[in-house]
Amino acid sequence: MSRPARETRWRREGRDKADSTFRERRLTQRRSRIRLQEALLASALVSVAVPSGASDLPDGFVRVKEVSPAIREDIRYAGADNFVGRPLSGYEAGVCILRTEAARALARVQESLAAKGLVLVVYDCYRPKRAVADMLRWAQASSGPRFGPFHPTTDRRSLVSQGYVAVRSLHSTGLAVDLGLARLDALRAPVRLRGDCTAPVEIRGDEGALDFGTAFDCFDRRSSTYARGLPTEAAANRRQLIKAMAEQGFANYPREWWHFSYGGSGRGPAQDFTVVGR
Ligand SMILES: [Zn+2]
Repeated sequence: MSRPARETRWRREGRDKADSTFRERRLTQRRSRIRLQEALLASALVSVAVPSGASDLPDGFVRVKEVSPAIREDIRYAGADNFVGRPLSGYEAGVCILRTEAARALARVQESLAAKGLVLVVYDCYRPKRAVADMLRWAQASSGPRFGPFHPTTDRRSLVSQGYVAVRSLHSTGLAVDLGLARLDALRAPVRLRGDCTAPVEIRGDEGALDFGTAFDCFDRRSSTYARGLPTEAAANRRQLIKAMAEQGFANYPREWWHFSYGGSGRGPAQDFTVVGR
């Protein structure tokens, strides 16, 4: 090969290489721009789905803490401290969710009680349909103990017929709430039921709340709101809770001193979304 021909080839190869490097650089820049656009689009979609400060719950539902931060939460079905002995299906967090109108009414109850040095302790609020089904399966299972700390004299297999475990629950509409009362200035003790839920509070443990004569979710005739033979103070605490709740539109279920339904609005459909924190 002659020298000029060789030079020409080197020059051409150099130019081709430079062109190739240029094209690669352009391609890389274009890919970067596309990735940036994709990232911007993704963040825009996220911000459309969950705008800052907006609710991630279905329309008409709210976390009670966002309406009334003072209300204490001790959501039993999110943990093992309940009659089933394990978290129920559908609870990923121990937070109280209610229909907005019920939450606002509960906030008003809390305001009225705070003046007396008291605070509401909520044990259950909105309950997913699958949690209701989970309870029902447990109550109707053919194997397993028939009596336990939360139903010492009531057979597990009669809990449905006796009205303690429901096939369908108003809790699933977000218009029912289970709750008790505690003193605002009292430090809340760890919740532990010791043995029989109908035993005197000194024996069974106070669960960090005032004495209502039985533990929460104690499936027994002594949990009937106006049961006879209760300690005077426990009966007075029940009356005080019912009065404060009734003043804001909540009706008590006579077989359970802790269960209230809010009647100030139409009943929406039962829901099955998961109980999650924020
Ligand atoms: Zn209830």
